[in-house]
Amino acid sequence: MSTPSLDVLAVAAHRDDVEQTCGGTLLKMAQRGYRTGILDLTQGEMGTRGTAEDRAREAQAAARLLNVSIRHALDIPDGRVENTWENRIKIARVIREQRPHVLILPYWKGRHPDHYTASVLGYEGAFLAGLKKLGSTPGSGEAGGEAISQLPPHRPFKIIYASLYDDVRPSFVVDITNQFESRFQALLAYKSQYTDQSAGSGLFPAQQEIRSRMESMASFYGLLAGVKYAEPFVQKEVGLVEDLAAIPVQSL
Ligand SMILES: [Zn+2]
Repeated sequence: MSTPSLDVLAVAAHRDDVEQTCGGTLLKMAQRGYRTGILDLTQGEMGTRGTAEDRAREAQAAARLLNVSIRHALDIPDGRVENTWENRIKIARVIREQRPHVLILPYWKGRHPDHYTASVLGYEGAFLAGLKKLGSTPGSGEAGGEAISQLPPHRPFKIIYASLYDDVRPSFVVDITNQFESRFQALLAYKSQYTDQSAGSGLFPAQQEIRSRMESMASFYGLLAGVKYAEPFVQKEVGLVEDLAAIPVQSL
């Protein structure tokens, strides 16, 4: 591979999901010198406002604000994210190409079917990406299987789940106090969605309302850890501690 591996790849169903759930964390990682990326599974063609082309442009503008090295969108139909073999292969291919160490997926429960389906789809795509014989046995690599077998197998070391869309107690939170403002600007980069306008104004809250919601959520999760703003994550594994004296977050 000529391109360097990603340290962190965030996968989400829709453009602007990452901005809402883990954009501050991605920016923070980039500021710490890590190489980050975003994979959007859909292109947003079902949105009430704007076209898929508008959203592609806006997604790139948001990506620049979050300092990510790469942002790709797959062509899975918006509103129809399904856990199919074909879709798992599409994700496995990106994982083999980008070789992320950490994979951020959406939490596996939630209101929108695209969100919770993207979670399982991402997990299973990551699993497949590590299978040595993927794409080289008959029928195991439709949708460009020949090419995927040319890429070396890879699995992320760690999978964490961005849980902001669901009311679940996080395993940990990331302090985004210094990234909150840029994350908000990244969301506003989706001008077709978030600029105050009359089309769909019953559906879309005004900018001030969006800011106040984002502040409330970030403050809530920040408060759990004694910082101003934070983003919540769930991990399936237990935490491993080396030094009791260095565990953060005060108890009383
Ligand atoms: Zn979404």
